[in-house]
Amino acid sequence: MLAQGKVTLIAQDPLTIRLQYPVAERAVRPVEECRLPGENKAILLHICCGPCGTYTIQRLREQGFEVRGFWYNPNIHPYDEHERRRACVEDYAREVGLPMTWWREYEDDAYFSAVRGHEAFGERCAICYRLRLERTAQVAAMQGCQALTTTLLISPYQNQEMIRQIGSDVAQEHDLEFYFENFRRGWAERGRTARQHGLYQQRYCGCIYSAEETRAQNASR
Ligand code: SF4
Repeated sequence: MLAQGKVTLIAQDPLTIRLQYPVAERAVRPVEECRLPGENKAILLHICCGPCGTYTIQRLREQGFEVRGFWYNPNIHPYDEHERRRACVEDYAREVGLPMTWWREYEDDAYFSAVRGHEAFGERCAICYRLRLERTAQVAAMQGCQALTTTLLISPYQNQEMIRQIGSDVAQEHDLEFYFENFRRGWAERGRTARQHGLYQQRYCGCIYSAEETRAQNASR
């Protein structure tokens, strides 16, 4: 650098040089900008299944939230499948020390009466999301949480924009924040973690209609 004239030699011992070009000062970000989005906030995480909980729980914790889990999935059919997914969440929650709230009943009748006459894919999904997120918002408010979100946001098979809109609406109705993040970034990690922990991986979304649609698709292949 000396030979190239980029520095001037000030002293040999100790070696001291002066740069011949200006060095831009690194901008210092104000402390408020460095805060994590979840600092000092309790969030109620609606969990649809164990595998989708893996990355999401970890990510929310990294974002500074005090994470609490919530189970309410009356769409899952039949009851045995509901119980299999619920047990998987229970085991995983225990493993990662996640406090859980379980909705007391399997309310499949609430799901069927809500979607009656709207069984087409997409139309019924909007109703299904609202049913689950409304209950989540209700419980989040009762528990004094500041925010809610859902593991449904991680799945590339779900309508993320629709979930975001419905989540924001129900959160607003309860004076809460709906925390949106594109958890799909963690989809591959979700798969790895689920395999490592031997979690049950379902083959269809959840409702009876999705089970039939998946069966029909598999049969036509
Ligand atoms: S396909 Fe999935 S999101 Fe849509 S109604 Fe069925 S269970 Fe709910």
